[in-house]
Amino acid sequence: MSVICKALRKHKQHGKAMAALLLCVLLLLPCGCGGVQKYSVTFIDVFDTVTTFTAYAGSRGEFDALAERLHEQLLEDHRRFDVYREYPGMNNLCTLNHLAGSGEVQVDRVTMDLLAFSAALYGESGGRLNVALGAVLALWHQAREAAAEDPAGARAPEESLLREAAQHCRIQDLALDEEACTVRFLDPELKLDVGAVAKGFAQSRAMALLDGAGCTAWLLNMGGSVCCRGRKPDGTPWTIGLEDPLDKSGPMRSFPLTDASAVTSGVDQRYFLADGVRYHHIIDPETLYPGTRYTQVTVVLPDPALGDALSTALFLLDTEAGRALAEKYASEVLWMLPDGSQVKTDGFPALK
Ligand code: ADP
Ligand code: MG
Repeated sequence: MSVICKALRKHKQHGKAMAALLLCVLLLLPCGCGGVQKYSVTFIDVFDTVTTFTAYAGSRGEFDALAERLHEQLLEDHRRFDVYREYPGMNNLCTLNHLAGSGEVQVDRVTMDLLAFSAALYGESGGRLNVALGAVLALWHQAREAAAEDPAGARAPEESLLREAAQHCRIQDLALDEEACTVRFLDPELKLDVGAVAKGFAQSRAMALLDGAGCTAWLLNMGGSVCCRGRKPDGTPWTIGLEDPLDKSGPMRSFPLTDASAVTSGVDQRYFLADGVRYHHIIDPETLYPGTRYTQVTVVLPDPALGDALSTALFLLDTEAGRALAEKYASEVLWMLPDGSQVKTDGFPALK
């Protein structure tokens, strides 16, 4: 199942195709509650996914001004955390992958915070969440791209190449000087991939922006990773839709959410098929192949940055270790298993 806003099904797109595109769909839906109205805007140029911001505001002008600030910040974070492209005037993740193997590279505080946060989560997840796994993930990325070009010739990367790449994925070789804000790779072959954490980190920063702006009833859906504040003017909570990742035409379930985030990692987000096998994008650092325990993991907790990190880590951990990790971070989890069954922590919201 994927977490989606009921009104908008998740629709992933590649950054390249979207670079020049910005779709701003403004919907004005009168609700007649306390003088506020519901407004919504969609961005398709950040984090390679469809992002929808919905809020109740006093006027369209008020909403538009806030949406513009939000969009600017998301774009800035998208560029900061982009591993594929560099941008003038900033050292981003792509710059690090090019230069940090041969010397210290200066980054800004936000990038340093993301890397320090990710490095801390490596230990917490027993090494399952590893942003230094870039060399291995790049092979899977290439295989996915090749499969998109030529589905009939699709194949998994050569195991020998995966094993060779895995020699260059030690998080200990990511040297961070948090005070000086510099990064150096002690292994020149090391590559970072922050795909598991960057979107949630940006969403957490977006949450701070919206809170700081005094917005009290809103929902931000970034490709199925949702965070929200407050309730609708009639007092009801926001509703988060869930679908089965392996049966998109099946019945949709939903659960209520208020002042929290719901983040999902699943086999339907990015994948390719080869010889009838689905090779999805969450790679177990132990096997170097896609994790097979679950089809989807959804985490509900206050902070989307932690939610993003945990959803990927929990996807790769057994349920016992996962429960311990979830408890440590006061999060509620729904695991979907390949046989269609579900496991939930006690406090996961009731599904309808
Ligand atoms: P989504 O991008 O759909 O939100 P996730 O948050 O689960 O999904 O992140 C998956 C992405 O994280 C992959 O596309 C890849 O870039 C990266 N990744 C995959 N496996 C790992 C791992 N074991 N550790 C760290 N990052 C990973
Ligand atoms: Mg994640």
